[in-house]
Amino acid sequence: MNKEILDIIKDTNDKKSQKPKAGVVTFGCQQNEADSERIKGMLVSMGYEIVDADMAGDISGSYGQFDENGTESPFGSCDVIIMNTCAVREHAELKAFSRTGQLKHYKNKNKDLLIGLCGCMVEQDHVLDYLKKSFHHVDFIFGTRSIHKFPEIFYDTLVNKKKVLKNENIEEDIIDEDLPVRRDSSFKAWVSIMYGCNNFCSYCVVPHVRGRERNRNKDKILDEIQKLISSGYKEITLLGQNVNSYKDPVDPNYNFADLLTDIVKTDGDYWVRFITSHPKDVSDRLITLMGENEKIANHFHLPVQAGSNRILKLMNRGYTREDYLELIEKLKKHVKDIAIASDIIVGFPSETNEEFEETLDIIEKAGFDNIFPFIYSKRKNTPAEKMEDKISRKEKTDRFARLMAIQKIISEKKNKAYVGKTVKILVESEAKHNNDDEKKYLAGRTSTHKLVIFEGNIDLIGSFVNVKINEGKLHGLYGEIEKN
Ligand code: SAH
Ligand code: SF4
Repeated sequence: MNKEILDIIKDTNDKKSQKPKAGVVTFGCQQNEADSERIKGMLVSMGYEIVDADMAGDISGSYGQFDENGTESPFGSCDVIIMNTCAVREHAELKAFSRTGQLKHYKNKNKDLLIGLCGCMVEQDHVLDYLKKSFHHVDFIFGTRSIHKFPEIFYDTLVNKKKVLKNENIEEDIIDEDLPVRRDSSFKAWVSIMYGCNNFCSYCVVPHVRGRERNRNKDKILDEIQKLISSGYKEITLLGQNVNSYKDPVDPNYNFADLLTDIVKTDGDYWVRFITSHPKDVSDRLITLMGENEKIANHFHLPVQAGSNRILKLMNRGYTREDYLELIEKLKKHVKDIAIASDIIVGFPSETNEEFEETLDIIEKAGFDNIFPFIYSKRKNTPAEKMEDKISRKEKTDRFARLMAIQKIISEKKNKAYVGKTVKILVESEAKHNNDDEKKYLAGRTSTHKLVIFEGNIDLIGSFVNVKINEGKLHGLYGEIEKN
Protein backbone atom coordinates (compact mmCIF):
# COMPACT_ATOMS: atom_id res chain seq x y z
CA MET A 1 0.00 0.00 0.00
CA ASN A 2 1.24 3.43 -0.91
CA LYS A 3 1.13 5.36 2.37
CA GLU A 4 2.13 8.64 0.71
CA ILE A 5 -1.05 8.63 -1.33
CA LEU A 6 -3.16 8.09 1.78
CA ASP A 7 -1.50 11.14 3.33
CA ILE A 8 -1.96 13.33 0.24
CA ILE A 9 -5.69 12.57 0.09
CA LYS A 10 -6.01 13.04 3.85
CA ASP A 11 -4.33 16.46 3.71
CA THR A 12 -6.82 17.63 1.09
CA ASN A 13 -9.80 16.20 2.97
CA ASP A 14 -8.68 17.68 6.30
CA LYS A 15 -8.84 21.15 4.77
CA LYS A 16 -12.51 20.78 3.87
CA SER A 17 -15.06 22.44 6.14
CA GLN A 18 -16.92 19.14 6.49
CA LYS A 19 -15.37 15.70 6.67
CA PRO A 20 -16.25 13.80 3.46
CA LYS A 21 -18.23 10.59 3.89
CA ALA A 22 -17.70 7.06 2.58
CA GLY A 23 -19.90 3.97 2.53
CA VAL A 24 -18.84 0.38 1.89
CA VAL A 25 -21.52 -2.19 1.03
CA THR A 26 -20.52 -5.79 1.66
CA PHE A 27 -22.03 -8.77 -0.14
CA GLY A 28 -21.15 -12.41 0.43
CA CYS A 29 -18.88 -14.18 2.87
CA GLN A 30 -16.93 -13.28 6.00
CA GLN A 31 -13.75 -12.87 3.96
CA ASN A 32 -15.49 -10.00 2.18
CA GLU A 33 -16.52 -8.53 5.56
CA ALA A 34 -12.87 -8.69 6.61
CA ASP A 35 -11.72 -7.12 3.32
CA SER A 36 -14.29 -4.33 3.74
CA GLU A 37 -12.86 -3.56 7.17
CA ARG A 38 -9.45 -2.99 5.53
CA ILE A 39 -11.00 -0.82 2.81
CA LYS A 40 -12.76 1.23 5.49
CA GLY A 41 -9.44 1.42 7.36
CA MET A 42 -7.79 2.96 4.29
CA LEU A 43 -10.71 5.35 3.80
CA VAL A 44 -10.42 6.51 7.42
CA SER A 45 -6.68 7.04 6.89
CA MET A 46 -7.60 9.20 3.87
CA GLY A 47 -9.75 11.43 6.07
CA TYR A 48 -13.19 9.97 5.37
CA GLU A 49 -15.96 9.44 7.88
CA ILE A 50 -17.48 5.98 7.47
CA VAL A 51 -21.25 5.76 7.15
CA ASP A 52 -22.34 2.55 8.87
CA ALA A 53 -25.46 0.96 7.42
CA ASP A 54 -26.21 -2.44 5.99
CA MET A 55 -27.18 -1.70 2.40
CA ALA A 56 -26.67 -5.21 1.02
CA GLY A 57 -30.05 -6.58 2.17
CA ASP A 58 -32.53 -8.51 0.09
CA ILE A 59 -33.58 -6.59 -3.02
CA SER A 60 -37.11 -7.89 -2.79
CA GLY A 61 -37.68 -6.14 0.54
CA SER A 62 -37.30 -2.54 1.60
CA TYR A 63 -34.56 -3.45 4.08
CA GLY A 64 -31.29 -1.80 3.14
CA GLN A 65 -32.74 -0.37 -0.07
CA PHE A 66 -31.03 2.59 -1.72
CA ASP A 67 -33.91 5.02 -2.20
CA GLU A 68 -34.92 6.29 -5.64
CA ASN A 69 -33.85 9.91 -5.27
CA GLY A 70 -30.71 9.30 -3.29
CA THR A 71 -31.59 11.37 -0.26
CA GLU A 72 -33.26 9.31 2.43
CA SER A 73 -30.87 6.43 2.85
CA PRO A 74 -27.84 6.87 5.11
CA PHE A 75 -25.66 6.59 2.00
CA GLY A 76 -27.38 9.61 0.36
CA SER A 77 -24.77 11.95 1.81
CA CYS A 78 -21.72 9.91 0.78
CA ASP A 79 -18.88 11.26 -1.35
CA VAL A 80 -17.70 7.76 -2.21
CA ILE A 81 -19.57 4.44 -2.23
CA ILE A 82 -17.80 1.11 -2.70
CA MET A 83 -19.62 -2.15 -3.42
CA ASN A 84 -17.65 -5.19 -2.26
CA THR A 85 -19.17 -7.93 -4.40
CA CYS A 86 -19.58 -11.73 -4.31
CA ALA A 87 -19.45 -14.07 -7.33
CA VAL A 88 -20.09 -17.44 -5.75
CA ARG A 89 -23.63 -17.80 -7.11
CA GLU A 90 -25.58 -16.02 -9.82
CA HIS A 91 -28.05 -14.66 -7.28
CA ALA A 92 -25.25 -12.80 -5.46
CA GLU A 93 -24.08 -11.25 -8.72
CA LEU A 94 -27.56 -10.17 -9.72
CA LYS A 95 -28.02 -8.56 -6.32
CA ALA A 96 -24.79 -6.58 -6.63
CA PHE A 97 -25.68 -5.47 -10.16
CA SER A 98 -29.14 -4.40 -9.04
CA ARG A 99 -27.78 -2.46 -6.05
CA THR A 100 -25.13 -0.82 -8.23
CA GLY A 101 -27.84 0.13 -10.73
CA GLN A 102 -29.75 1.94 -7.97
CA LEU A 103 -26.70 4.14 -7.33
CA LYS A 104 -27.30 5.90 -10.64
CA HIS A 105 -29.89 8.07 -8.90
CA TYR A 106 -27.28 9.10 -6.37
CA LYS A 107 -24.87 10.09 -9.11
CA ASN A 108 -27.62 12.09 -10.85
CA LYS A 109 -28.08 14.05 -7.62
CA ASN A 110 -24.42 14.43 -6.86
CA LYS A 111 -22.13 14.52 -9.90
CA ASP A 112 -19.02 14.39 -7.67
CA LEU A 113 -20.01 11.11 -6.07
CA LEU A 114 -17.45 8.39 -6.81
CA ILE A 115 -18.67 4.82 -7.17
CA GLY A 116 -16.34 1.84 -6.98
CA LEU A 117 -16.75 -1.92 -7.25
CA CYS A 118 -14.40 -4.44 -5.71
CA GLY A 119 -14.47 -8.07 -4.59
CA CYS A 120 -14.82 -11.35 -6.46
CA MET A 121 -17.12 -10.20 -9.27
CA VAL A 122 -14.67 -7.74 -10.73
CA GLU A 123 -11.99 -10.41 -10.99
CA GLN A 124 -13.94 -11.74 -13.98
CA ASP A 125 -13.40 -10.27 -17.46
CA HIS A 126 -16.98 -10.82 -18.61
CA VAL A 127 -18.23 -8.80 -15.62
CA LEU A 128 -15.87 -5.94 -16.44
CA ASP A 129 -17.07 -5.96 -20.06
CA TYR A 130 -20.67 -5.75 -18.86
CA LEU A 131 -19.85 -2.97 -16.41
CA LYS A 132 -18.17 -0.90 -19.11
CA LYS A 133 -21.12 -1.37 -21.43
CA SER A 134 -24.01 -0.87 -19.03
CA PHE A 135 -22.85 0.83 -15.84
CA HIS A 136 -21.41 4.16 -16.92
CA HIS A 137 -21.82 5.60 -13.45
CA VAL A 138 -19.16 3.25 -12.01
CA ASP A 139 -15.81 5.09 -11.69
CA PHE A 140 -13.31 2.51 -10.53
CA ILE A 141 -12.78 -1.16 -9.73
CA PHE A 142 -10.19 -3.19 -7.87
CA GLY A 143 -10.13 -6.95 -7.40
CA THR A 144 -9.62 -9.17 -4.36
CA ARG A 145 -5.93 -9.41 -5.16
CA SER A 146 -5.43 -5.64 -5.53
CA ILE A 147 -6.89 -4.35 -2.26
CA HIS A 148 -3.48 -2.93 -1.34
CA LYS A 149 -3.62 -0.95 -4.61
CA PHE A 150 -6.88 0.75 -3.64
CA PRO A 151 -5.27 4.09 -2.61
CA GLU A 152 -3.47 4.43 -5.96
CA ILE A 153 -6.53 3.47 -7.98
CA PHE A 154 -8.70 5.82 -5.95
CA TYR A 155 -6.18 8.65 -6.39
CA ASP A 156 -6.32 8.19 -10.17
CA THR A 157 -10.08 8.58 -10.07
CA LEU A 158 -10.34 11.30 -7.43
CA VAL A 159 -7.44 13.53 -8.44
CA ASN A 160 -6.56 12.57 -12.03
CA LYS A 161 -10.27 12.16 -12.91
CA LYS A 162 -9.53 8.86 -14.67
CA LYS A 163 -11.91 5.93 -14.86
CA VAL A 164 -10.20 2.72 -13.75
CA LEU A 165 -12.18 -0.23 -15.04
CA LYS A 166 -9.36 -2.66 -15.70
CA ASN A 167 -8.00 -5.22 -13.30
CA GLU A 168 -4.32 -4.53 -13.57
CA ASN A 169 -1.32 -5.38 -11.46
CA ILE A 170 -2.56 -8.65 -10.05
CA GLU A 171 0.30 -9.75 -7.85
CA GLU A 172 -0.70 -13.21 -6.69
CA ASP A 173 1.73 -13.54 -3.82
CA ILE A 174 1.27 -10.20 -2.13
CA ILE A 175 -0.02 -10.18 1.44
CA ASP A 176 0.14 -6.60 2.61
CA GLU A 177 0.40 -6.67 6.41
CA ASP A 178 0.32 -2.89 6.71
CA LEU A 179 -3.24 -2.17 5.64
CA PRO A 180 -5.08 -0.21 8.34
CA VAL A 181 -8.28 -1.80 9.61
CA ARG A 182 -11.46 -0.20 10.84
CA ARG A 183 -13.37 -2.99 12.61
CA ASP A 184 -17.17 -3.01 12.61
CA SER A 185 -17.36 -4.50 16.11
CA SER A 186 -15.54 -3.71 19.33
CA PHE A 187 -15.78 -7.28 20.65
CA LYS A 188 -15.91 -9.65 17.63
CA ALA A 189 -13.02 -9.71 15.17
CA TRP A 190 -12.26 -11.42 11.88
CA VAL A 191 -8.67 -12.49 11.44
CA SER A 192 -7.70 -13.82 8.01
CA ILE A 193 -5.03 -16.47 8.28
CA MET A 194 -4.87 -17.28 4.57
CA TYR A 195 -6.17 -16.07 1.23
CA GLY A 196 -7.21 -17.91 -1.93
CA CYS A 197 -7.88 -21.60 -2.48
CA ASN A 198 -6.14 -24.52 -4.18
CA ASN A 199 -8.98 -26.99 -4.13
CA PHE A 200 -10.73 -26.28 -7.39
CA CYS A 201 -14.05 -27.89 -6.53
CA SER A 202 -15.56 -28.25 -9.99
CA TYR A 203 -18.52 -25.92 -9.35
CA CYS A 204 -16.64 -23.15 -7.57
CA VAL A 205 -15.41 -19.80 -8.83
CA VAL A 206 -13.39 -18.94 -5.69
CA PRO A 207 -9.94 -20.22 -6.80
CA HIS A 208 -10.45 -18.34 -10.07
CA VAL A 209 -11.34 -15.02 -8.44
CA ARG A 210 -9.26 -15.15 -5.25
CA GLY A 211 -6.19 -16.89 -6.63
CA ARG A 212 -4.02 -19.63 -5.16
CA GLU A 213 -3.64 -20.24 -1.46
CA ARG A 214 -1.39 -17.73 0.33
CA ASN A 215 -0.75 -18.12 4.06
CA ARG A 216 -0.01 -15.33 6.48
CA ASN A 217 3.05 -15.51 8.64
CA LYS A 218 2.19 -17.12 12.00
CA ASP A 219 3.90 -14.38 14.02
CA LYS A 220 1.81 -11.69 12.32
CA ILE A 221 -1.37 -13.66 13.06
CA LEU A 222 -0.46 -14.29 16.70
CA ASP A 223 0.53 -10.67 17.19
CA GLU A 224 -2.77 -9.41 15.74
CA ILE A 225 -4.78 -11.78 17.95
CA GLN A 226 -2.88 -10.96 21.13
CA LYS A 227 -3.49 -7.25 20.54
CA LEU A 228 -7.19 -7.87 19.91
CA ILE A 229 -7.59 -9.90 23.09
CA SER A 230 -5.70 -7.41 25.23
CA SER A 231 -7.91 -4.62 23.90
CA GLY A 232 -11.03 -6.51 25.03
CA TYR A 233 -12.13 -8.57 22.01
CA LYS A 234 -14.18 -11.58 23.11
CA GLU A 235 -14.49 -13.53 19.89
CA ILE A 236 -11.83 -14.10 17.26
CA THR A 237 -12.89 -15.82 14.04
CA LEU A 238 -10.04 -17.16 11.95
CA LEU A 239 -10.83 -16.92 8.27
CA GLY A 240 -9.72 -18.86 5.23
CA GLN A 241 -11.33 -20.79 2.38
CA ASN A 242 -9.82 -23.91 3.92
CA VAL A 243 -8.24 -23.09 7.29
CA ASN A 244 -7.19 -26.71 7.80
CA SER A 245 -4.57 -26.49 5.09
CA TYR A 246 -2.87 -23.52 6.80
CA LYS A 247 0.93 -23.72 6.88
CA ASP A 248 3.33 -21.06 8.05
CA PRO A 249 5.15 -19.76 4.94
CA VAL A 250 8.52 -19.79 6.75
CA ASP A 251 8.10 -23.11 8.57
CA PRO A 252 5.81 -25.41 6.53
CA ASN A 253 5.78 -27.96 9.37
CA TYR A 254 3.80 -25.47 11.45
CA ASN A 255 0.14 -26.23 10.68
CA PHE A 256 -3.37 -25.13 11.67
CA ALA A 257 -3.41 -27.19 14.89
CA ASP A 258 -0.06 -25.59 15.87
CA LEU A 259 -1.50 -22.16 15.22
CA LEU A 260 -4.61 -22.83 17.32
CA THR A 261 -2.46 -24.28 20.11
CA ASP A 262 -0.43 -21.06 20.19
CA ILE A 263 -3.47 -18.79 19.95
CA VAL A 264 -5.20 -20.29 22.98
CA LYS A 265 -2.08 -19.81 25.11
CA THR A 266 -3.10 -16.13 25.28
CA ASP A 267 -4.72 -15.40 28.65
CA GLY A 268 -8.19 -13.90 28.77
CA ASP A 269 -11.89 -14.65 28.54
CA TYR A 270 -12.53 -15.18 24.81
CA TRP A 271 -13.52 -17.69 22.14
CA VAL A 272 -11.78 -18.63 18.95
CA ARG A 273 -13.82 -19.77 15.96
CA PHE A 274 -12.68 -20.72 12.48
CA ILE A 275 -14.27 -20.97 9.04
CA THR A 276 -14.20 -22.81 6.71
CA SER A 277 -12.84 -26.35 6.94
CA HIS A 278 -12.49 -28.78 4.09
CA PRO A 279 -13.31 -32.33 5.29
CA LYS A 280 -10.30 -33.82 3.51
CA ASP A 281 -7.88 -31.76 5.64
CA VAL A 282 -9.27 -32.06 9.19
CA SER A 283 -6.53 -33.58 11.34
CA ASP A 284 -6.93 -35.82 14.40
CA ARG A 285 -4.80 -33.35 16.34
CA LEU A 286 -7.26 -30.55 15.62
CA ILE A 287 -10.15 -32.69 16.86
CA THR A 288 -8.33 -33.59 20.08
CA LEU A 289 -7.40 -29.97 20.62
CA MET A 290 -11.02 -28.87 20.26
CA GLY A 291 -12.10 -31.45 22.79
CA GLU A 292 -9.51 -30.31 25.29
CA ASN A 293 -9.67 -26.55 25.09
CA GLU A 294 -12.66 -24.47 26.14
CA LYS A 295 -11.36 -21.38 24.37
CA ILE A 296 -11.98 -23.07 21.02
CA ALA A 297 -15.68 -22.68 20.26
CA ASN A 298 -17.69 -25.88 20.20
CA HIS A 299 -18.76 -25.41 16.61
CA PHE A 300 -17.52 -26.88 13.37
CA HIS A 301 -18.57 -25.69 9.92
CA LEU A 302 -17.82 -28.67 7.73
CA PRO A 303 -19.37 -28.43 4.25
CA VAL A 304 -20.30 -31.85 2.87
CA GLN A 305 -21.90 -30.48 -0.36
CA ALA A 306 -23.49 -33.84 -1.38
CA GLY A 307 -24.18 -37.33 -0.09
CA SER A 308 -23.48 -39.39 -3.20
CA ASN A 309 -19.99 -40.63 -3.95
CA ARG A 310 -20.45 -40.18 -7.71
CA ILE A 311 -21.48 -36.53 -7.23
CA LEU A 312 -18.70 -35.89 -4.69
CA LYS A 313 -16.24 -37.20 -7.27
CA LEU A 314 -17.70 -35.00 -10.02
CA MET A 315 -17.43 -32.08 -7.60
CA ASN A 316 -13.73 -32.93 -7.07
CA ARG A 317 -14.17 -32.90 -3.29
CA GLY A 318 -11.54 -35.51 -2.47
CA TYR A 319 -13.54 -37.57 0.08
CA THR A 320 -16.35 -40.12 0.10
CA ARG A 321 -19.58 -40.12 2.12
CA GLU A 322 -18.02 -42.85 4.28
CA ASP A 323 -14.94 -40.66 4.99
CA TYR A 324 -17.21 -37.78 5.88
CA LEU A 325 -19.42 -39.76 8.25
CA GLU A 326 -16.35 -41.23 9.93
CA LEU A 327 -15.06 -37.71 10.52
CA ILE A 328 -18.38 -36.66 12.05
CA GLU A 329 -18.26 -39.67 14.40
CA LYS A 330 -14.74 -38.73 15.50
CA LEU A 331 -15.79 -35.13 16.15
CA LYS A 332 -18.80 -36.21 18.19
CA LYS A 333 -16.72 -38.67 20.17
CA HIS A 334 -13.91 -36.30 21.08
CA VAL A 335 -15.69 -32.94 21.35
CA LYS A 336 -18.51 -33.06 23.88
CA ASP A 337 -21.78 -31.42 22.72
CA ILE A 338 -20.21 -30.17 19.49
CA ALA A 339 -22.52 -28.45 17.01
CA ILE A 340 -21.87 -29.15 13.34
CA ALA A 341 -23.01 -27.02 10.43
CA SER A 342 -22.72 -27.83 6.75
CA ASP A 343 -23.15 -26.47 3.22
CA ILE A 344 -25.14 -28.47 0.68
CA ILE A 345 -25.49 -28.01 -3.06
CA VAL A 346 -28.77 -29.24 -4.51
CA GLY A 347 -29.15 -30.15 -8.18
CA PHE A 348 -25.50 -30.47 -9.22
CA PRO A 349 -25.42 -31.38 -12.96
CA SER A 350 -26.66 -34.96 -13.53
CA GLU A 351 -27.65 -35.52 -9.87
CA THR A 352 -30.40 -38.18 -9.93
CA ASN A 353 -33.24 -38.37 -7.47
CA GLU A 354 -31.59 -41.39 -5.83
CA GLU A 355 -28.34 -39.49 -5.46
CA PHE A 356 -30.20 -36.55 -3.97
CA GLU A 357 -31.76 -38.96 -1.49
CA GLU A 358 -28.25 -39.92 -0.43
CA THR A 359 -27.78 -36.26 0.51
CA LEU A 360 -30.95 -36.43 2.61
CA ASP A 361 -29.60 -39.58 4.19
CA ILE A 362 -26.24 -38.02 5.08
CA ILE A 363 -28.03 -35.04 6.62
CA GLU A 364 -29.96 -37.39 8.88
CA LYS A 365 -26.96 -39.55 9.71
CA ALA A 366 -24.68 -36.59 10.47
CA GLY A 367 -27.42 -34.80 12.43
CA PHE A 368 -26.34 -31.27 11.56
CA ASP A 369 -27.34 -28.45 13.86
CA ASN A 370 -27.72 -26.19 10.89
CA ILE A 371 -27.20 -26.26 7.13
CA PHE A 372 -26.65 -23.68 4.41
CA PRO A 373 -28.29 -25.19 1.35
CA PHE A 374 -27.77 -23.77 -2.15
CA ILE A 375 -29.28 -24.60 -5.49
CA TYR A 376 -26.43 -25.29 -7.93
CA SER A 377 -25.50 -22.18 -9.86
CA LYS A 378 -23.50 -22.44 -13.08
CA ARG A 379 -20.28 -20.38 -12.86
CA LYS A 380 -18.22 -19.24 -15.83
CA ASN A 381 -14.89 -20.98 -16.47
CA THR A 382 -15.47 -23.74 -13.92
CA PRO A 383 -15.31 -27.43 -15.01
CA ALA A 384 -18.95 -27.95 -13.97
CA GLU A 385 -20.01 -25.27 -16.46
CA LYS A 386 -19.34 -27.78 -19.23
CA MET A 387 -21.34 -30.58 -17.55
CA GLU A 388 -24.79 -31.19 -18.95
CA ASP A 389 -27.37 -29.72 -16.58
CA LYS A 390 -30.73 -31.29 -17.45
CA ILE A 391 -32.42 -31.03 -14.05
CA SER A 392 -35.39 -28.67 -14.31
CA ARG A 393 -35.70 -25.60 -12.11
CA LYS A 394 -38.85 -27.10 -10.58
CA GLU A 395 -37.04 -30.32 -9.71
CA LYS A 396 -34.24 -28.35 -8.07
CA THR A 397 -36.62 -26.26 -5.99
CA ASP A 398 -38.58 -29.37 -5.00
CA ARG A 399 -35.38 -31.05 -3.84
CA PHE A 400 -34.42 -27.91 -1.96
CA ALA A 401 -37.78 -27.87 -0.16
CA ARG A 402 -37.50 -31.57 0.78
CA LEU A 403 -34.04 -30.95 2.18
CA MET A 404 -35.21 -27.98 4.23
CA ALA A 405 -38.15 -29.93 5.61
CA ILE A 406 -35.85 -32.66 6.94
CA GLN A 407 -33.30 -30.23 8.34
CA LYS A 408 -36.02 -28.22 10.12
CA ILE A 409 -37.00 -31.25 12.17
CA ILE A 410 -33.37 -31.98 13.08
CA SER A 411 -32.53 -28.35 13.97
CA GLU A 412 -35.63 -27.97 16.11
CA LYS A 413 -34.90 -31.19 17.97
CA LYS A 414 -31.30 -30.10 18.60
CA ASN A 415 -32.47 -26.74 19.95
CA LYS A 416 -35.10 -28.30 22.21
CA ALA A 417 -32.37 -30.40 23.83
CA TYR A 418 -31.00 -27.18 25.36
CA VAL A 419 -34.12 -26.60 27.49
CA GLY A 420 -33.23 -26.64 31.18
CA LYS A 421 -29.51 -26.12 30.54
CA THR A 422 -27.52 -23.03 31.48
CA VAL A 423 -25.21 -21.85 28.71
CA LYS A 424 -22.49 -19.23 28.45
CA ILE A 425 -23.26 -16.75 25.71
CA LEU A 426 -21.59 -13.74 24.15
CA VAL A 427 -24.16 -10.92 24.03
CA GLU A 428 -24.13 -9.43 20.52
CA SER A 429 -26.98 -6.96 20.05
CA GLU A 430 -30.44 -5.82 20.97
CA ALA A 431 -33.01 -8.38 19.80
CA LYS A 432 -36.03 -7.90 17.63
CA HIS A 433 -38.82 -9.44 19.63
CA ASN A 434 -42.52 -9.76 18.89
CA ASN A 435 -43.64 -9.53 22.49
CA ASP A 436 -45.91 -6.55 23.14
CA ASP A 437 -44.23 -5.77 26.44
CA GLU A 438 -41.88 -2.89 27.14
CA LYS A 439 -39.01 -5.14 28.11
CA LYS A 440 -35.61 -4.92 26.42
CA TYR A 441 -34.45 -8.13 24.77
CA LEU A 442 -30.92 -9.04 23.82
CA ALA A 443 -29.48 -11.54 21.37
CA GLY A 444 -26.31 -13.52 21.81
CA ARG A 445 -24.65 -16.74 20.72
CA THR A 446 -23.48 -19.85 22.50
CA SER A 447 -20.10 -21.41 21.86
CA THR A 448 -22.06 -23.79 19.60
CA HIS A 449 -23.26 -20.71 17.64
CA LYS A 450 -26.91 -21.00 18.70
CA LEU A 451 -28.85 -17.75 18.76
CA VAL A 452 -30.20 -16.98 22.25
CA ILE A 453 -32.83 -14.33 23.05
CA PHE A 454 -33.34 -13.13 26.62
CA GLU A 455 -34.30 -10.07 28.62
CA GLY A 456 -31.42 -7.81 29.64
CA ASN A 457 -29.83 -4.42 29.68
CA ILE A 458 -27.95 -3.16 26.60
CA ASP A 459 -24.88 -2.56 28.76
CA LEU A 460 -24.33 -6.31 28.53
CA ILE A 461 -23.62 -6.18 24.78
CA GLY A 462 -20.06 -7.35 24.20
CA SER A 463 -19.80 -9.42 27.39
CA PHE A 464 -20.31 -13.05 28.37
CA VAL A 465 -23.34 -14.00 30.49
CA ASN A 466 -24.91 -17.27 31.60
CA VAL A 467 -28.44 -17.85 30.36
CA LYS A 468 -30.84 -20.55 31.48
CA ILE A 469 -32.72 -21.87 28.45
CA ASN A 470 -36.49 -22.18 28.82
CA GLU A 471 -37.52 -22.76 25.23
CA GLY A 472 -35.92 -24.16 22.08
CA LYS A 473 -37.41 -23.23 18.69
CA LEU A 474 -36.33 -23.78 15.11
CA HIS A 475 -34.28 -20.58 14.80
CA GLY A 476 -33.04 -20.16 18.33
CA LEU A 477 -33.23 -20.51 22.07
CA TYR A 478 -35.10 -18.37 24.60
CA GLY A 479 -34.07 -17.98 28.20
CA GLU A 480 -33.26 -15.79 31.17
CA ILE A 481 -30.02 -14.54 32.63
CA GLU A 482 -28.93 -16.70 35.51
CA LYS A 483 -28.53 -14.59 38.63
CA ASN A 484 -25.43 -15.40 40.64
N1 SAH B 1 -14.27 -22.33 1.03
C1 SAH B 1 -15.48 -22.58 1.64
C2 SAH B 1 -16.64 -21.77 1.13
C3 SAH B 1 -16.82 -21.61 -0.30
S1 SAH B 1 -18.22 -20.80 -0.93
C4 SAH B 1 -15.72 -24.06 1.58
O1 SAH B 1 -15.21 -24.77 0.74
O2 SAH B 1 -16.42 -24.54 2.44
C5 SAH B 1 -19.50 -21.22 0.23
C6 SAH B 1 -20.44 -22.27 -0.24
O3 SAH B 1 -21.09 -21.85 -1.42
C7 SAH B 1 -19.81 -23.60 -0.61
O4 SAH B 1 -19.55 -24.39 0.50
C8 SAH B 1 -20.87 -24.20 -1.52
O5 SAH B 1 -21.82 -24.94 -0.79
C9 SAH B 1 -21.56 -22.98 -2.11
N2 SAH B 1 -21.24 -22.84 -3.54
C10 SAH B 1 -20.04 -22.59 -4.09
N3 SAH B 1 -20.15 -22.56 -5.44
C11 SAH B 1 -21.45 -22.80 -5.73
C12 SAH B 1 -22.18 -22.91 -6.94
N4 SAH B 1 -21.60 -22.78 -8.12
N5 SAH B 1 -23.51 -23.15 -6.86
C13 SAH B 1 -24.12 -23.30 -5.67
N6 SAH B 1 -23.47 -23.22 -4.50
C14 SAH B 1 -22.15 -22.97 -4.52
FE1 SF4 C 1 -14.58 -23.30 -3.50
FE2 SF4 C 1 -13.91 -25.79 -2.90
FE3 SF4 C 1 -12.15 -23.82 -2.48
FE4 SF4 C 1 -14.34 -24.00 -0.95
S1 SF4 C 1 -12.69 -25.50 -1.07
S2 SF4 C 1 -13.53 -22.16 -1.93
S3 SF4 C 1 -15.88 -24.77 -2.38
S4 SF4 C 1 -12.93 -24.51 -4.46
